[in-house]
Amino acid sequence: MAKKNILNLLKNLKIRLILLFLAIGIVPTAALRIGMLRAYEKKAVSNRSIDVLSQAKILTNQIVFNHYLEDSDSEIINSQLKQISNIYDGRIMVIDGDFRIVKDTYGLDENKTIVSEEVMQSFRGEEICKHDAQNGYIEMTIPLTEKESKDAIGVLLVSVSTDSIVLNQEYLENSARIIELASAMVVLLVAVSLARLLVRPFRRMANEIVEIQSGYKDELQIDTYKETQVISQRFNQLFGRMKVIDASREEFVSNVSHELKTPLTSMKVLADSINGQEDVPVELYKEFMSDIGNEIDRETKIINDLLSMVKMDRAAADLNISNVNINELLELILKRLRPIAQRQHVELVLESFRPVSAEVDEVKLTLAITNLVENGIKYNQPEGWVHVSLNADHQYFYVKVEDSGIGIPEDALEHIYERFYRVDKSHSREIGGTGLGLAIARNAILMHRGAIKVFSTEGEGTIFNVRIPLNYIAS
Ligand code: ADP
Repeated sequence: MAKKNILNLLKNLKIRLILLFLAIGIVPTAALRIGMLRAYEKKAVSNRSIDVLSQAKILTNQIVFNHYLEDSDSEIINSQLKQISNIYDGRIMVIDGDFRIVKDTYGLDENKTIVSEEVMQSFRGEEICKHDAQNGYIEMTIPLTEKESKDAIGVLLVSVSTDSIVLNQEYLENSARIIELASAMVVLLVAVSLARLLVRPFRRMANEIVEIQSGYKDELQIDTYKETQVISQRFNQLFGRMKVIDASREEFVSNVSHELKTPLTSMKVLADSINGQEDVPVELYKEFMSDIGNEIDRETKIINDLLSMVKMDRAAADLNISNVNINELLELILKRLRPIAQRQHVELVLESFRPVSAEVDEVKLTLAITNLVENGIKYNQPEGWVHVSLNADHQYFYVKVEDSGIGIPEDALEHIYERFYRVDKSHSREIGGTGLGLAIARNAILMHRGAIKVFSTEGEGTIFNVRIPLNYIAS
C-alpha cells in the first residue's frame, strides 16, 4: 500500500521535477564537500610529513654527530627529542645497529628490540614515510648514517599524530554541512516554485478541458510550450470530429423520425378523409385501404432497411466469412431480381469473364450487390438494360453494375452514399426508395476491405464498380 502510494506520488510530474532540481542542486555541493575535504587531508598530511621529516633529518645528523647511540644521556639531544615529540604530539625512538631501542620518548620500550619491515628497510638506507589514516598517525623511519660511510648505524623512528588534522577536517566538514543545508533549503524553495511554474500549463489544460466539457468554451488553446500547442491542436481536431459525429447522429435521428412519420401521415390523411365522408362507396373504401396498405409496405421497407443497416454497423467485427462461388452468387441475385426487371421492361444481363471464388460474407455481399442491381432497375428508362459483369485478377474480384438509366447529377454524386439521401425525393418515394440502399451497400463492401466507385452521366446511365479482395484480410 505504502509502495503504491510512493509510486503514485512519483507519477506526479511536479514531484519528479522537484526531485530532479534537488538532485541537480544538492549532489554537486555534496560532491564538492567530499572532494575538498579529501584534498585538504592529503595536503595537510603531506605538509605535516615534510615538516616532521626536515626536523627529523636535522636530528639524525645531530644524533650521529654526538655519538648518541653509544651515549644516550646527551642533554642536548634528549631535550631536542622531547621538544620535537611535544610539538608534533608524537613519539620518537632511536634504534641502534643491534635493533635495540636506545631511546623512546614515551619511555615504554627502551632497551627492547624492534624488528619491523620499515626499520629493516631503513637500515638498507631508505627513508620511509607512511600515513595510517585509520589509526590517525604518520610514521617515518630515517636511517642514521655517518658522513664518510653510507651504511646506517641506526634508525630514527618518528610517529606523529594526525589528530589536529582530523580535528580541522571535522571543523571544515561541519561548516560545509551548514552551508550545504542552507543551500539545500534555497534549492528546495526554488525547485518547488519552478516545478509549479512548469507544470501550470498542464493544470490549465485539464481545467480548460473541463470547461469545454461543460460547454463554457469550445476550443483548447494552451500555447505555453510547443508540446501543449500540439496537444491543443490534436484535442481540437478530435473534438471537432466528435462534434461532426454528434451532429450527424442527430441528423440521422431526425431523418429517421421524418421518414417514419411520412407514411403514417399519409395513412392518417387517408383514414380521416374516409371518416369525414358519409355514405362512402365501397370502391372508394377499397381504393383507400389499398393506399393505406401501400403505405404500410413502405413503412415496413424503411424499418427493414434500417434494421439491416444497424445490424451491419453492429456486426462490423463479426463477418461470417466463407469461401463463396461469386459466379453462382451473382446468378442467384439476378434470378431473384429478374421478375422486377421484367415488370419494368428492363433487360438484365450477367457476364462472367472467369470463374471466381472468394472469401466473403455471403449474406452481406448479396445485400450490397442486390441494392446496386435493384437501383439499376429502379432508376432506368423503359426498355433499358442493366449489365452485371464479373472479373478478377490474382488479388481482387471486380463486379461492374452498369445501367442505361436516368443517371445521377454530378453535384449529387458525392452524397449518394449518405443515409436517406435521394436525388429526387418524390420520384424515389414513388418507386419505393428509402435512401438507405447505397449506404448499406457501401458499408458491406468496406467491411470486406473493398472499394466502390461510381461514374454517371445524366440521361445516359450509371456505372458502379466494386472491387473486393479475393482473400479476406482480418484487421
Ligand atoms: P434509394 O432507396 O432511394 O434507392 P439509395 O441509397 O439506393 O436509395 O440511392 C440513393 C439515391 O441515389 C437514389 O435515391 C437515387 O436518386 C440515386 N441512385 C442510386 N442508384 C442510381 C442509379 N443506378 N441510377 C440513377 N440514380 C441512382
